Amino acid sequence: MKQISILGSTGSIGTNALRVVEANPEHFSVRYLTAGKNAERLIEQARKFHPKVVAIADETLANEVHNELRPLHIEVLSGKTGINDLAAATDVDLVLNAIVGSAGLEPSYNALKAGKNIALSNKESLVMAGELINRLLIEKNLKIFPVDSEHSAIWQCIVGEDNKNIRRIILTGSGGPFRTFPIEQFDHITPEQALKHPTWNMGKKITIDSATMMNKGLEIIEAHYLFGVAPENIEVVIHPQSIVHSMVEFIDGSIKAQMGLPDMKLPIQYALGYPERLPVVWENTDFMKIRELTFEAPDFAKFPSLKLAYNALQRGGTAPAILNVVNEYAVYAFLENKIRFIDIPRFVEDALTDLSIVDNPELGDILEVEQSGREFVERKVR
Ligand code: NDP
Repeated sequence: MKQISILGSTGSIGTNALRVVEANPEHFSVRYLTAGKNAERLIEQARKFHPKVVAIADETLANEVHNELRPLHIEVLSGKTGINDLAAATDVDLVLNAIVGSAGLEPSYNALKAGKNIALSNKESLVMAGELINRLLIEKNLKIFPVDSEHSAIWQCIVGEDNKNIRRIILTGSGGPFRTFPIEQFDHITPEQALKHPTWNMGKKITIDSATMMNKGLEIIEAHYLFGVAPENIEVVIHPQSIVHSMVEFIDGSIKAQMGLPDMKLPIQYALGYPERLPVVWENTDFMKIRELTFEAPDFAKFPSLKLAYNALQRGGTAPAILNVVNEYAVYAFLENKIRFIDIPRFVEDALTDLSIVDNPELGDILEVEQSGREFVERKVR
């Protein structure tokens, strides 16, 4: 029985992770849960899964959660410190980090510092601090189990292989809601249109990232740090059906692909259960229903975020962190109707030229980017 912490349990990945736990009661038990502001859902989850402690980032909601959970003897922590304390708890086997955005960086870092392996959904941690995190993994002899479906696919393709035999990683992407949308109409895209993803049901930030294709950009950077493959050997292919979750080509030209329905429970279960493969309790893939799998090249003119991500990765230092933070706050500004859809990559491009890039950054340098990036977006919005 694995004891797990779920950071960001109230979100899309967090709730799917709890479904995985519920379906495998003999394999997993929940020790800690954390939320941002959704007190109601956190209370409901705590009543059902009986964690030892929960934490809520919004301190104004701590009393409400505490009052509800006191009869169950569940302790309640709050604020950033509360989340970080639970991330660093050592009496668990695995920490699932499903917090969205740059807020997930410190919890990832603290869990690793405390000597815990992490199942990582918060790709932003690796994008912002890939080199730092990889140093920590070596120093502490730890592992990251990827939850992102593309990286889970790559991981499943390379089990039993030698990484030096990888020639190319082929990241697939659905192309999002604007794959066939005319480029001339991009400056009129509304948040409502951008939130309608054709194949995946996810949180708002990643759904907008999928629409701009910055999500694929973040995944290029994530794949580089997870698998040590050079940026020029990471390719993006558009695959609208979202059945092939990614592929790996080896030096002899052989290509392995991992397939399945677009359902995050599968990669979550693989990451939590590893090295065991647990039986499926959800829908099976029916090729007679799918009928066709198609592939096409990404449109770099419509989706400039892809090139920006390659450039930031090549530049290194704090450039990927700047890309990540400015993108994140620009996404929130777009969701609040303060900027246009096409302004998101423009802000990122401007920030990568205007903000100074620090080489070989330590955690403090990256946390400074979180502030300077946020202020940069605020200035641009004004
Ligand atoms: P959601 O927005 O659905 O959930 C985010 C979670 O993070 C919630 O529990 C939220 O709490 C919590 N949270 C938000 N802000 C803070 C904060 N400042 N401090 C602590 N906790 C906070 O996001 P998703 O589940 O969609 O995505 C989570 C991560 O997984 C992202 O990095 C995303 O890129 C990645 N991912 C998601 C996929 C998906 O299918 N959804 C697929 C692949 C990767 P609350 O709701 O209580 O405010």
